[in-house]
Amino acid sequence: MHILIIGGGVAGLVCARTLHRAGYQVTLIEASDGLGGRVRSDRVEGFVLDRGFQVLFTAYPAAQRQLNLTALDLRAFDPGAIVAWGGRREVLTDPLRDRDPSALIGAALASVVSPADKLRTLRLAMRLRQQMIDNLLAGPDQSTLAELKALGFSDHMIDRFFRPFFGGIFLDRSLQTSAKCFRFNFKMMSEGQTVVPNRGMGAIAEQLGAELVAAGRVRLNTRATALITRDQHVRGVQLADGSELFADAVVLATPAPETARLSGLPVPEGSLGSSCVWLATRHPLYRGKKLLLNANDDAFVNTLAPMSAVAPGYAPAGWYLYAAAVIGVSDRDESTIVARAIVDLHRIFANEAVATTALANARILRVDRIPFAQFPQPPGIHPNLPDNRTSRPGLYLAGELTEASSINAAMLSGERCAEAIRADLPR
Ligand SMILES: Cc1cc2nc3c(=O)[nH]c(=O)nc-3n(C[C@H](O)[C@H](O)[C@H](O)COP(=O)(O)OP(=O)(O)OC[C@H]3O[C@@H](n4cnc5c(N)ncnc54)[C@H](O)[C@@H]3O)c2cc1C
Repeated sequence: MHILIIGGGVAGLVCARTLHRAGYQVTLIEASDGLGGRVRSDRVEGFVLDRGFQVLFTAYPAAQRQLNLTALDLRAFDPGAIVAWGGRREVLTDPLRDRDPSALIGAALASVVSPADKLRTLRLAMRLRQQMIDNLLAGPDQSTLAELKALGFSDHMIDRFFRPFFGGIFLDRSLQTSAKCFRFNFKMMSEGQTVVPNRGMGAIAEQLGAELVAAGRVRLNTRATALITRDQHVRGVQLADGSELFADAVVLATPAPETARLSGLPVPEGSLGSSCVWLATRHPLYRGKKLLLNANDDAFVNTLAPMSAVAPGYAPAGWYLYAAAVIGVSDRDESTIVARAIVDLHRIFANEAVATTALANARILRVDRIPFAQFPQPPGIHPNLPDNRTSRPGLYLAGELTEASSINAAMLSGERCAEAIRADLPR
C-alpha cells in the first residue's frame, strides 16, 4: 500500500513516520527546501533563529508520545513572567516552581496580581490538573475573556497579565479565542515546562523526519499543484514541474488555505499572523530566564524572549539573543518594524543604563513576517473542524486544521490520520 503525504510539517511527518513504521510504503513531498513547516530553525551568523518565536510545552501529550524529549536537549524558561507596564517591570512568579529565589522577592512587591487573583490562579491550576483533557475540551464554549471574567479575575489581572500572555500564545490580545484553548494551554503550562531545544525548535522536525530521510522517503522542493482523480478516487498529485505522482491514497498535510485550494473542501477560514525581530546584544537586557510581557495598551512588541539565556545553543559566546515577538504582520517596511520594536524596548528598559546601551548597539539579525501562523479559533469552532477522512475517496487530511492550532494538535492530527488509513486500507 503506497501513501503519498503532501507537506512535511509536524503533522505530515508524524503521519508519514507512523505509517512507515507500520510497514506502508510512504512518499512525503515538501514544497520548501526543508522539513518542519512552521517549526523550523535557521543558522544565521552563528545564531539559531526559529521561524518566528515559539515554544514547546513538555506536558503536550502527543509530544510525549512522538518525541524523544531527552534527545532534544530541552532548555526551560522559568515559570511566571516579567510584566512591563507603565514604566515598571514586575516579576510574576510561581512560588511552587520558581528556581530563581530573587524572583520571589520581586513577586512579593508586584501589583499586577492581587492576593485574590493569586488564589483564583491557584484554584484554577488545581482544578484543571484534576481534569482529563477530553473533559476540559468537551461541553459548551465561550471566549477566553468571558471565561476569565466568569472565574472572577479582576480587569487589572486580565489586562496586565492574561492579555499579553495568552494573547501572545493565541495571537489575539482581545482574548476572543475559545476558552477550550485557554484551559488546555493553562493545564499544559501548569503541568510541565515551557521549553526550546538547545539547537532550536527545528530540532523537533529533524527528529520526526530522521527515519523517513534515512529511508529515502522524503522529497524536498517538490510542490503539489493539483490532485489527480480517477474514477472518483483521489489517486495522486500533479507537481509544479508538470510530472505526476500516484499512490493508493493521498494525505494533505498542508496549511488550511493550501488544503482548501487543492481539495475544495471546507477548512477553518482566516489567518492570524505573527512577526518577530531577532536581535543580539553584547550585554543582557535583563537577568533570568523568564519571558517579558509588554502589558502596555499600545504595545507593539508583545513578548520579549531571552533565547540564549534559556538555551545557550542559540547564540555564540559573548552574545545575548532575544526574540521580540509582535502579534500580526505589519505592512510597514522592515526598518520601520525594527524601529518601532526598538522604541518599545527602550521604553521598557528606560533608566537602565546597561540595557539602553546594549539596545543602542543591538545587531538586528532578521525580521520574520509570517502571515499564516495559526488559524483563528473562536468559541465553538473545534467540534466543527474537518475530520481526517474526507468526502473524497482516497483523500485524507492531516494538519492542525483537524484539531486545533498548535504543535500538539498537529502531531495528534498526524497520529489520527495514520490510524484512519490503517483502518481503511490495511496493509
Ligand atoms: C510564529 C509562530 C508561533 C507559534 N507558536 C506556537 C507555540 O508556541 N506552541 C505551539 O504549540 N504552536 C505554535 N505555533 C503553531 C504551530 O507551529 C502549528 O500549529 C504547527 O506547526 C502546524 O503544523 P502543520 O504540520 O499542521 O502545518 P505546517 O507546519 O504549516 O506544515 C505544512 C507543510 O506543507 C508544506 N506545503 C504547503 N503547500 C504544499 C504543497 N502544495 N506541496 C507540498 N508541500 C506543501 C509547507 O511548506 C509546510 O512544510 C506557532 C506558529 C507560528 C508560525
